[in-house]
Amino acid sequence: MDLENLWQSVLAQIQLDISPANFATWFANTKILSFEDGIISVATPNSFSKEWLEQKYGKDILKILQPLDKNIKAVSFVVDPRKTKKAPGKKIAENDKDSTEQLGFKELEINKETNLNPRYVFDNFIVGPFNELAFAAAMAVVEEPGKNYNPLFVYGGVGLGKTHLVQAIGNKIKEDSPEKKVKYLPAEKLISIIVNSIKKNSIEELKKTLRELDVLIVDDIQFIAGKDKTQEEFFHTFNSLYQKNKQIILSSDRHPNAIPAITERLKSRFKGGMIADISSPDFETRMAILKQKGEEKGVDLPKEIIEFIANNIQRNIRELESALNRLIIFKKANNKNPTLEDTKKLLKTIIVSPSKVTNPKKIIQAVTEFYDIPNGTMFFTSRKKEFSKPRQVAMFLLKKELKLSYSEIGRKFEGKDHTTVIHACQLIEKTAEEDEKMHQEIELILQRIYSS
Ligand code: ADP
Ligand code: MG
Repeated sequence: MDLENLWQSVLAQIQLDISPANFATWFANTKILSFEDGIISVATPNSFSKEWLEQKYGKDILKILQPLDKNIKAVSFVVDPRKTKKAPGKKIAENDKDSTEQLGFKELEINKETNLNPRYVFDNFIVGPFNELAFAAAMAVVEEPGKNYNPLFVYGGVGLGKTHLVQAIGNKIKEDSPEKKVKYLPAEKLISIIVNSIKKNSIEELKKTLRELDVLIVDDIQFIAGKDKTQEEFFHTFNSLYQKNKQIILSSDRHPNAIPAITERLKSRFKGGMIADISSPDFETRMAILKQKGEEKGVDLPKEIIEFIANNIQRNIRELESALNRLIIFKKANNKNPTLEDTKKLLKTIIVSPSKVTNPKKIIQAVTEFYDIPNGTMFFTSRKKEFSKPRQVAMFLLKKELKLSYSEIGRKFEGKDHTTVIHACQLIEKTAEEDEKMHQEIELILQRIYSS
């Protein structure tokens, strides 16, 4: 077996499941050293990463490897002996560079100035009925940044292409006008740089840098909920850019109206330009996505297999990609197409019936996170809407998704009477039917539940 290909396959899979930063930190400079007596031996650059990989990723790596070759029984990690012997200095640096290049993973090539990932471009962005509004708005922004839609606010559930789209806009503007200053910031990053510069007394400098931009892209802006300082600073930066006709692009997992704990003035800024949503791709688009991604990777899978994936994986594009990757890995490692049976086996963990993948804990966690309330507060006997709404939604979802009995649900909420539970379930069901916003909230929470 080709060990290099095998490890590339593992990396391709792991990369889907962890953040780019984690991936770069732990998997650069790793490779398979040997495969003997059923044991795959993985070389790591130092003892710290050896331990970390063992503990955090050992099991996952084995799980990825086993379906590919049933002779693989275990994975062991070793500090690469060749490396430790090498003299320090230049040699190691060169060595590191080599293996990073060898990885060939674009995630490791994020542009330092813009923070943009070169992988996210329009050329590989598929447009269908589910995202055409957002795509059209994106094109209008590229055409004349700062003029048409400001801000552009894109929202939709997990794995549907928000990050890809907003980064593609940035990459295209930069390509068309290299002199333009473009910056991509995930909201968590924006929050941390603001907090840090307040601490270090360098907020004025930061303000200046941000205000000199031509295009500012903030991804997952919903995370600034409850972060008052960041909201304050961001509000002023926003105004300053806006007044100078500089383009602002925001993405979020929900409509501005549904972001809790942001100031009204910021909310109204978010709504002041163009709001475009991305929904889930239909069957045709799922087929198109699978075909294109297969071509990109130079792997052709039988139509029957592609259709099986498109039929069974409907929630989001990230899952489609991850399913396709598993099959590609299998094909490369075994030098033959997977059969339908192989496919079912390989995708078992992605395609599972809802009742198997969720449980009360996950539902309560997803609702808590969605409404951004402190853990446990939904169990308080409080009539405050802040807590009572999440509680009612959680009750409704426990009923709908897990078919728990009303009294069982009541017991989970400090022994609430089953009539209270019935009332909550009916109320939420009715509101979701009549009110589009509530309907969307439920959809988004469901996506969270099933994608975590
Ligand atoms: P989100 O930010 O909405 O969670 P991402 O932008 O990270 O989703 O997309 C998840 C994965 O799916 C990425 O690998 C991305 O490249 C891919 N993807 C998303 N939308 C499209 C699309 N329209 N065409 C091709 N690939 C897509
Ligand atoms: Mg994203």
